[in-house]
Amino acid sequence: MTVRFVTAADDLRPAYDLVIVGAGPAGMAAATEASRTGARVAVLDENPRPGGQIYREITRNQPGARQYLGADYWKGKALGNAFAESNADYAARATVWSIEPADEPRDGERHRVGVTIAGAARMIEAAAVILATGAQERPMPVPGWTLPGVLTAGAAQIALKSSGVVPAAPIVLAGCGPLLYLLASQLIDAGARDMTLLDTSRPVLRWESLRRLPGFLFSPYLRKGLGLLLRTRRRIRVVTGVRSLEILGEDRAEGVRFATARGTSTINASTVLLHQGVIPAINLASAAGCPLAWNAAQRAFQPVTDAEGRTPKRGVLIAGDSAGIGGAQAAEIAGRIVAVAALSDRGLVARDVSAALINRLQRQRQRYFRGRGFLDALYAPRHIFLAPPDAQTIVCRCEEITAGKLREAISLGPPGPNQLKTFVRCGMGPCQGRLCAATVTEIMAAERGTSPADIGTYRLRAPVKPVRLAELAGLPHAPRALKAVTGRDPVDHHLNETELPS
Ligand SMILES: Cc1cc2nc3c(=O)[nH]c(=O)nc-3n(C[C@H](O)[C@H](O)[C@H](O)COP(=O)(O)OP(=O)(O)OC[C@H]3O[C@@H](n4cnc5c(N)ncnc54)[C@H](O)[C@@H]3O)c2cc1C
Repeated sequence: MTVRFVTAADDLRPAYDLVIVGAGPAGMAAATEASRTGARVAVLDENPRPGGQIYREITRNQPGARQYLGADYWKGKALGNAFAESNADYAARATVWSIEPADEPRDGERHRVGVTIAGAARMIEAAAVILATGAQERPMPVPGWTLPGVLTAGAAQIALKSSGVVPAAPIVLAGCGPLLYLLASQLIDAGARDMTLLDTSRPVLRWESLRRLPGFLFSPYLRKGLGLLLRTRRRIRVVTGVRSLEILGEDRAEGVRFATARGTSTINASTVLLHQGVIPAINLASAAGCPLAWNAAQRAFQPVTDAEGRTPKRGVLIAGDSAGIGGAQAAEIAGRIVAVAALSDRGLVARDVSAALINRLQRQRQRYFRGRGFLDALYAPRHIFLAPPDAQTIVCRCEEITAGKLREAISLGPPGPNQLKTFVRCGMGPCQGRLCAATVTEIMAAERGTSPADIGTYRLRAPVKPVRLAELAGLPHAPRALKAVTGRDPVDHHLNETELPS
């Protein structure tokens, strides 16, 4: 068995038992597991190669060349190889922009998946869909964050994993979370010099994190996390307790002014890398109509799922970090669990077999949830970096909406973020709110003196990613749709291609 590489939209089959969106640890594991059952599986991912965030370019990178990416990264080789040996149809550079119920479901729920490959769009059908769309970095709006030379830590890591690029020095990493220290360590090993890390985490000696410490002490994160922290502090300057940040510069980043309990300082910077944790990438789930719920510990919205990834939308399941942040190992196991659940619901895996397998996998996954609570509490962002107080700070980068403008509009009384959109167009740009939704909710909650859970977040509609009109116009339409427009029964052969195989 080997994976079938699909490079053109027309090479996709009209229908699959399972369509998986995302080829990160969760998506690759789900496809590998599902392939064992003989199901027709498609994996659609917008990146040029499988791997997702953590294992980006794992199928192309060779340990000799990029050892600095670290042991955890190279663990992805085995998963990448197993995926390559699956019988899935795999489409790289494939952007999924909609998931909707099929027009004429023949047996039980069916879904239509809107995908674009190489500039051509297609709607394919699926009996079940697994969204393994991963996480995104939480926005960190500080004054000057839109200046050239400022990017997220994740973006710098993508450049390092994909092309071995080390940013221009002096480099300032600012924010909180394990990824910031991981990147610092990877950059040092890749030869970066003149780096400073400004850690905005709150003191560890807080009840919130201390009461979760025991779980962390017996978790797989203790040795790895402490090792990373100590190694980084031994090799670069780390400033802790950073309470505010401002990026200085006229037409590009030139320095950072920051404050701690010890006073205010300024340091030079050609590159500023911001990061304050990751949150589930929920846009596709939201547009597919999956209900969202507030996860107070991770301070983010996530789709509502059962323990096996099922959402209230029958046949739509969610695996990995897009269902809630758990990390790469938990994502991989979740991918297996969710694939077995999806296929067992379709009768493609016997109930008793799936139950036994899922129980075993759930026990394995528990191990990676231990210690998560402590990390979430330790790295919970300071409120100043969630809801920027400075009125001039841009929150919605697509529409250049500032925090001040948002507060002004909020004072006019829109009930929630969706109505606020109509007031100031925040969240209506090409990113469809990915970069501002979390901040808009936090600002609105603070202004209203209530919790983000009560405020809610944007409700997305398809397309969740930009689609060109030509792509929509080029979509082969079902006879029913054409008749609806022309009033005549179409007889063209091309239309039969969308018909499901008997
Ligand atoms: C920028 C970034 C860097 C990270 N680096 C690390 C790291 O070095 N080490 C670590 O332990 N953890 C890292 N993480 C955490 C990471 O979320 C998990 O470790 C792990 O990758 C989660 O696996 P996943 O399969 O759930 O999602 P991911 O690995 O994120 O995979 C999701 C895949 O879905 C694709 N996708 C999303 N939406 C669509 C769509 N609409 N159409 C098509 N494809 C889509 C994405 O491009 C991606 O390839 C990182 C997270 C981020 C955001």
